[in-house]
Amino acid sequence: MSDNCIFCKIVHGDIPSRKVYEDDEVFAFHDINPVAPVHFMLVPKLHIVSLLEAEEVHAALLGRMLLLAPKLALEQGLKNGFRTVINSGKGGGQEVFHLHIHVIGGGNIPPMVKRD
Ligand code: AMP
Ligand code: ZN
Repeated sequence: MSDNCIFCKIVHGDIPSRKVYEDDEVFAFHDINPVAPVHFMLVPKLHIVSLLEAEEVHAALLGRMLLLAPKLALEQGLKNGFRTVINSGKGGGQEVFHLHIHVIGGGNIPPMVKRD
C-alpha cells in the first residue's frame, strides 16, 4: 500500500467505490468519470505504479488481470466486445499512478486513434 495513492485507498476501502469484482490479488471498480456506458478498471491490490515499473515477478498477476477483463466485461453486459486501455506514465496520459486496466464499452466506441 502506498500512503498517498487513491487506488490503494479504494482497494483498502478507505475511499468508496462502486465495486465490480474482488479477489485476493485484484480489485475492479467503476470509473468515477466514465467515457462510455460501461467503464470500469481492474487494478492489482499490490501497488505497482505502471507497466513501466512492472517486473517479471508480476507476470502471472498481469496475465490473470487480462484473462479476468473479458469475464467481467461480459458480466457487465458487453457481449459485443470492449476496449481495454492501459495508460503508462505521463507520456501515456496516465493520471493515477497505480497500474490499472480500463475496460470500456457499450454505446458508440470510436476508433482509438483519430486519423486526419
Ligand atoms: P488514467 O488516466 O489511465 O490514469 O485513468 C485514471 C482514471 O481514474 C480516470 O478515468 C478517472 O476518472 C478515474 N478515477 C479517478 N479517481 C477515481 C475514483 N475515486 N473512483 C473511480 N475512478 C476514479
Ligand atoms: Zn496504489
